[in-house]
Amino acid sequence: MYQASENRYSEMKYSRCGNSGLKLPRVSLGLWHNFGSYACEANIKEILFTAFDNGITHFDLANNYGPVPGAAEENFGKVISTELKSYRDELIISTKAGYEMYPGPYGDGGSRKYLFASLDQSLRRLKLDYVDIFYHHRMDKDTPLEETMLALSDIVRSGRALYVGLSNYDGPTLEQAAKLLDEYRVPFIINQNCYNIFNRTIEKNGLKDTSYRLKKGIIAFSPLAQGLLTDRYIDGIPEDSRAHSRSIFLKESDITLERIAAIKKLNNLARERGETLSEMALKWVLKDDKVTSVLVGVSKKSQLLNNIKAASGTLFTLPELQVIDEVVKP
Ligand code: NDP
Repeated sequence: MYQASENRYSEMKYSRCGNSGLKLPRVSLGLWHNFGSYACEANIKEILFTAFDNGITHFDLANNYGPVPGAAEENFGKVISTELKSYRDELIISTKAGYEMYPGPYGDGGSRKYLFASLDQSLRRLKLDYVDIFYHHRMDKDTPLEETMLALSDIVRSGRALYVGLSNYDGPTLEQAAKLLDEYRVPFIINQNCYNIFNRTIEKNGLKDTSYRLKKGIIAFSPLAQGLLTDRYIDGIPEDSRAHSRSIFLKESDITLERIAAIKKLNNLARERGETLSEMALKWVLKDDKVTSVLVGVSKKSQLLNNIKAASGTLFTLPELQVIDEVVKP
């Protein structure tokens, strides 16, 4: 039977999520890839237990994580209902709905009908009574924002979730949503968006500044650009990598010569700093106090142990930042 390390809180740093009372670890773990139907149970457990033993208290899921959709929640549910059960109060578990999950008009989008039904399905797969954070997974222009926000608010009031999060929103929509959620007096505390050295969308669409101004947290997903911002692809495409796998989100054709050239330059800078590229890439996301946590994925325990090192010492010199910006200029 798993026994968590007694030293699990000795190294990890925690940041307050916006102006809420909730603290998140600087490094959180996402279960989008590597926890689905094809994943090995022993590896799943090794990664989850290593994470918790090192102070990672936050595990991020969504209804559709797999493959097959739902499989990551089911696999996590097996562990949280057994080995991790006695630690439930030490864990922040999030899930989401917003992308297509089941057939028909009620299994996608932002309707009240979808959000309630999907979360109930998630809770059954997770074998939990509540999740800590429930996200609307993406903006839905076909549903009035008032309907989605009221549904999120009622979900919190019903006890199915403690906090509300929004994912893949832009600055202006976030601001409107936050106003509604304030009116409904619901604890909306966090935005989940893609942010990494290669993808600066949230700097351009107003999300990063708006979130900071409204005192909300940001958790950055794919902070390693799905593995590109690591040493994974420097010498080719490994057979056990995401780009080589069935994933439709990172393909071999994404590993272009230009990309590799940029990765090599970044890797050299990381070496000069005495870090791996993944460590440096995560520290870059955390370098100012606008991002609460980096949400990493890993396929192996060794990757997780490396990424945890990014939780402290996130300083960059101006020349270093300039080199990074120069490398990724279009
Ligand atoms: P990352 O950018 O962290 O990429 C993870 C991949 O990078 C791993 O699977 C691994 O690739 C590689 N990697 C990680 N650490 C190292 C290391 N130290 N050395 C070498 N390679 C490493 O994040 P993800 O794209 O996986 O996303 C993270 C989480 O963000 C998801 O699990 C999910 O929770 C969330 N997310 C949310 C979305 C949303 O719409 N809200 C969308 C996407 C993600 P390999 O598998 O090849 O070994």
